[in-house]
Amino acid sequence: ELETRLEIKSKDEIGSLADAINDLAIDLQHYRDTRQELFSNISHELRTPITYLEGYSKVVKDKLYETEEEKDRYLDIIYQEAVRLQHLVDDLFDMAKMEEGKISLVFERIDLSELVEQAVRKVELKAKDKSLRLTNSQSGKASLVHADGKRMEQIVLNLLENAIRYTEQGGIDVHLVYTSKRVTLIVEDTGIGIPEEELPYIFERFYRVEKSRSRQFGGTGLGLSIVKKLVEVQGGELQVSSKLGEGTRFEIQFVLLPDNGEGRT
Ligand code: ADP
Repeated sequence: ELETRLEIKSKDEIGSLADAINDLAIDLQHYRDTRQELFSNISHELRTPITYLEGYSKVVKDKLYETEEEKDRYLDIIYQEAVRLQHLVDDLFDMAKMEEGKISLVFERIDLSELVEQAVRKVELKAKDKSLRLTNSQSGKASLVHADGKRMEQIVLNLLENAIRYTEQGGIDVHLVYTSKRVTLIVEDTGIGIPEEELPYIFERFYRVEKSRSRQFGGTGLGLSIVKKLVEVQGGELQVSSKLGEGTRFEIQFVLLPDNGEGRT
């Protein structure tokens, strides 16, 4: 397959140089394949909402509906797909920046407890619309971490939105648990869950547990890959456990700032 393969067969220095070059060529080919796959994924993801937008706006434009309700339904789909496209473009932009290592973080002292509380408040309506419970609790008060506030919020919102998206009954419980040096954010839902054998893949770009399930729920397939990266670049650790049909639990650990917490927890 590789036209550039070198065929030097000896055990001397030139031989091992040839081996090194061959290895490089294989890496490069792999890199090309990955990019190819990435671009084909991106075009597919972009094409889908555009197809909906095109189709349904034509139906409305040419008045190919029979009732006003039908028309409203089509307009609603157009709106939903436009929103999805917006999310997708935002996510793609983040992904591209991270790929190039160009994501610039502004590290500050962040009060995680306050940040989580605000994020929970932002998604309250979404949970209410689906009649889901949404609780937020914490053990202790020491919650200062060294992080980028905007990116941290993005992480928390993403986990919360996923939890709401993939839960039909029961709800979402958010906890902050402190130990002497660390803080763990737990987002736990009673949703549809993820099969165990698929758990290792959910952080991959465009990976969806079921191809149709995420579309139906409105996701982009990029959220968790971005979350994982954002957690990593801020020195955190991310874990997930899940039971199909019972729920999913995400945990993120961060190191607490040394000058907070003593005597307060
Ligand atoms: P999406 O935008 O499709 O939600 P993500 O990268 O955020 O993409 O998540 C990847 C996949 O992992 C989702 O398509 C979904 O199948 C699964 N998933 C993520 N969060 C949850 C959750 N809380 N409960 C069940 N499944 C989830």
